[in-house]
Amino acid sequence: MLWDRLLQANRSLPPGLLFAGPAGLGKEALALRLAAWRLCGSAKDSAEPCGTCQSCRLVSVGTHPDLHIVQSEVANAAADSPFAELGRRYLWAENTSRSAKPKSIIAVNPVRALITALLSHAHFGHGKVAIIGPAERMNVNSANALLKLLEEPADDTLLILLSSMPTRLMATVRSRCMRVEFAPPALPVAVDWLASRVGNDAEALLALAGGAPLSAAALAEYGFPGCRDKWLDDVAALASRTLDPLICATRWHQAGSATVLGWLHGLIADLIGLASGATPRRLFNLGCESQMRPLVGGIPSATLHELFDTIGRRRRILDGSVDERLLIEDIVIKLRETLTGCGQNTIQSVG
Ligand SMILES: [Zn+2]
Repeated sequence: MLWDRLLQANRSLPPGLLFAGPAGLGKEALALRLAAWRLCGSAKDSAEPCGTCQSCRLVSVGTHPDLHIVQSEVANAAADSPFAELGRRYLWAENTSRSAKPKSIIAVNPVRALITALLSHAHFGHGKVAIIGPAERMNVNSANALLKLLEEPADDTLLILLSSMPTRLMATVRSRCMRVEFAPPALPVAVDWLASRVGNDAEALLALAGGAPLSAAALAEYGFPGCRDKWLDDVAALASRTLDPLICATRWHQAGSATVLGWLHGLIADLIGLASGATPRRLFNLGCESQMRPLVGGIPSATLHELFDTIGRRRRILDGSVDERLLIEDIVIKLRETLTGCGQNTIQSVG
């Protein structure tokens, strides 16, 4: 158990930890639990924070002065953000106007403000904990500022970086942290856990979420697998030229561009697997093989790979200042070109 290993290592933990692994595996929750335990006034002989001391109460309401959380605005705005109030502490330093789209990067100002706070004394005498996530969203300036802190750590401070894409972190930052790897639980364990919350769809949801239980639970809240079935019908209708791409783009944009693109990325991965002729080891869209196989017919594998890469690139810029509607339109048109084997010049004539 990760938790047990962290508790045992407590006395010898380095000042920087990197919690690395896919989203939906509870990195945030474990970081918060470790923070609460370190800051708790009476948990030193216990394996859990007491939950009743002043420190624990302040952590639970998000106002502990020695718990510092730096998030991107996008991460803080997410409905399932476990940090919520705590995560807003350094957002002021972004200087964002109210009308601006939330930023996905962690800029240098919040990191500088964090460093200043960490260099002062702890308020409660139990040390300080800082959590930064998604750490790969730090830009070069903020990563460099943090690097100085990792090289000359503040007294009695634990820094926890969270990342689902640790390879994107500056190598020098990575190398200064002890890496704590998060991996999906065994499938039967995850299915049991999820089934107690969502019922019969647990296996399909876990497949869609790449085995990450918390992401699967979030997909259930969003309306999966029902909405997936509708989008799969849309894709089939695009392939048979019975759905106008612009109507499809409007529908998908309204449903939530990021979620639809995430699902579409998984669908193309499934089509690549099916096109290879082999029965894929694990499909994202479990139980949908009969709907997906007709979509593949005759499409060159290289074309599917190209579409997969394009969707990946578009997903990465989605949080920035792009026109989401245009981006989705572009993807829908490329998707139809791929599925019908036609170039853009033939698309204009289709209603
Ligand atoms: Zn306590």
